[in-house]
Amino acid sequence: MKLILLGAPGAGKGTQSAKISEKYNIPAIATGDILRGAIKEGTELGLTAKGYMDAGKLVPDEIVVGIIKDYLSTEACKNGFILDGFPRSIPQAEALDAMGVKIDVVLSIEVPDDKIIARMSGRRVCHCGASYHVDYIPPKVEGICDKCGAELYIRADDCAETVANRLKTFHAQTEPLKTYYEAKGILATVEGQEEVADTTALVFAALDRVNA
Ligand code: AMP
Repeated sequence: MKLILLGAPGAGKGTQSAKISEKYNIPAIATGDILRGAIKEGTELGLTAKGYMDAGKLVPDEIVVGIIKDYLSTEACKNGFILDGFPRSIPQAEALDAMGVKIDVVLSIEVPDDKIIARMSGRRVCHCGASYHVDYIPPKVEGICDKCGAELYIRADDCAETVANRLKTFHAQTEPLKTYYEAKGILATVEGQEEVADTTALVFAALDRVNA
């Protein structure tokens, strides 16, 4: 299954992507995670990306399209993949089409802006990639990752000002992708629920319908 996850920042793409990856045994490719990894390593890519990310803007298309091209050509992606956070604009979707990649389903997780803002203020993440929320997905021990025991932290771009910009960017550049993929007949939508497990149930039901 070749799947794209769409949704506002904080809609739960990363969380659901991990569940789908486990159930269908396909790799998840998260451009945000890859860019944050590059920032941590201090590479040229990271240095370029950081300014855009801290401002809540999109990193230029040629950079992210290059990253995706490299990943999709690997053996691990041969039997399917989940794209989490890519494409994020019409030109990126067109670039994916131009690579000859045939996507089976685009799943949009819908969450209203006021809920997104509340969610982002409680998000805590780990360097291992795990993501928590102080109220909705609390770790077993406060401030500590369940998976690797490291200390959790707040993502630099989860501050209120950057979140507002990321939401603006989402509505202006990413949301039009729903119409783009609806026209191709491959868009499915689910309403993000308060409980992660409830959203996961809706996500699996939508994917099972596609696979039926
Ligand atoms: P995310 O972790 O998906 O919320 O992404 C965090 C930030 O990384 C975004 O706000 C963008 O600045 C950047 N980013 C991630 N994916 C993309 C993409 N496909 N195109 C452009 N910028 C991206």
